[in-house]
Amino acid sequence: TTAVVLFTSDLRLSDHPPLRAALRAADEVVPLFVQDPGVRAAGFEAPNRRAFLADCLASLDAGLRKRGGRLVVRSGPVVRETAAVAAECGAAEVHLAAGVTRYAHHREEGLRTALEKDGVELHVHDAVVTAVAPGTVVPSGGSDHFAVFTPYFRRWSDVHLREPLGAPRKVRVPAEVRSEELPRRADVPDVSPDVPKGGEDAGRRLFQRWRREDMAGYEDDHDDLPGDGTSRLSPFLHFGALSPAELVHLARERGGAGAEAFVRQLAWRDFHYQVLAARPASAEKDYRTRHDAWRSPKQAEADVTAWKEGRTGYPIVDAAMRQLRAEGWMHNRARLLTASFLAKTLYVDWRVGARHFLDLLVDGDLVNNQMNWQWVAGTGTDTRPHRVLNPLVQAKRFDPQGDYVRRYVPELREVAGRRVHEPWKLPAEQRAGLDYPEPIVDLDEGLKRFKQARGRE
Ligand code: FAD
Repeated sequence: TTAVVLFTSDLRLSDHPPLRAALRAADEVVPLFVQDPGVRAAGFEAPNRRAFLADCLASLDAGLRKRGGRLVVRSGPVVRETAAVAAECGAAEVHLAAGVTRYAHHREEGLRTALEKDGVELHVHDAVVTAVAPGTVVPSGGSDHFAVFTPYFRRWSDVHLREPLGAPRKVRVPAEVRSEELPRRADVPDVSPDVPKGGEDAGRRLFQRWRREDMAGYEDDHDDLPGDGTSRLSPFLHFGALSPAELVHLARERGGAGAEAFVRQLAWRDFHYQVLAARPASAEKDYRTRHDAWRSPKQAEADVTAWKEGRTGYPIVDAAMRQLRAEGWMHNRARLLTASFLAKTLYVDWRVGARHFLDLLVDGDLVNNQMNWQWVAGTGTDTRPHRVLNPLVQAKRFDPQGDYVRRYVPELREVAGRRVHEPWKLPAEQRAGLDYPEPIVDLDEGLKRFKQARGRE
């Protein structure tokens, strides 16, 4: 007998329930990845993610080959291709991980209908993409999801997670199944210069080193911009090269305040997944309707361009936006302050910023990106809609000596210490020598506009 495992956002061999179930049920397994043009058409296939994805697929293929198998890659609409592969190899079952987005729901429904016609069973596995599956913990009183993190986290922490499943020893793939060539990272154009290497092995190495060296300090240091002590695991989690359940398990095994703080962040990830699973429309629409009168795209055009290019005249904002462009990644504190700057200080629709992040982030994730943007913009759940992050206050707190700014804004590299955060206060002669813009907005005026628009003057 044969089974197909459709890999989606779970590009790994360890702790992979669909693969485990398929290997148990069948003698031969087809590990399948489909390059769906629908993903590209919807604008979700940014070069930085394509590059990282190519690494993940190469690593998955190498891992399968070590075990006697290989990865099968096809291009085309995912439902059609999966059904075709199942028919070609006479598979009795198709296994895949449950997803939460609209795209994932359509994929599941489409597969169910297509496979049923051919008498093939579809098995959808929970808790693969998240540690705790959406819907596992729900509030008493009938709501389908928790809208507030703290009570969610309390219940989430009590959920019993499976023991992590080891990678299989052997995977037999039917010889006759045709595969296309794997996409190659070197063929992807327009990739940011410092996008990290992807794949399960790279992810495991990164996590092991981070757990050994930095996890203990995570609770104290996670907001330190120049220290850069967070795990940088988000791209690996986005593509499922690492299992979130296994990371929770390994962090708890190590224990301590740093490990607990890290587990809490993984719970935030699950929290957003359960919100979006219950409200898939929140990927585009405000979770809470606010009827915000954002500035029109035309009014805000020059400001948006300056924000995207990292030329707002606020060094901390510009450093962060340039980190995004150079690495396809940004520190969480930097994401918070740049998003607040766009949505609140410049008063631009959060979707404009979310789109730009998705164009560049290696971890760009429809769930975490949109829900975090909504959280900052005040349209989301469990948010403080009236809080505005002042970039100068943020800079002084989280980059006190200005090292983060100097790392990413070369025009300011010669400005020593904390003075780098306010170039407009430098002596006129020194200021004139810097090819660095004046601030595009007065912070007090930005705040006034925001308060007026929100009716809280
Ligand atoms: P660590 O601090 O080491 O945290 C460990 C893991 O916990 C992360 O890898 C991530 O999977 C999860 N996590 C941490 N913080 C959050 C959070 N606030 N929400 C959800 N999960 C979290 N994260 C994404 O994975 N993809 C996105 O597209 C994304 N867009 C964001 C947009 C904005 C405006 C903001 C404010 C945050 C966004 N985040 C996003 C959340 C967070 O910034 C990143 O997950 C984090 O910076 C990744 O770095 P790290 O792996 O070193 O995190």
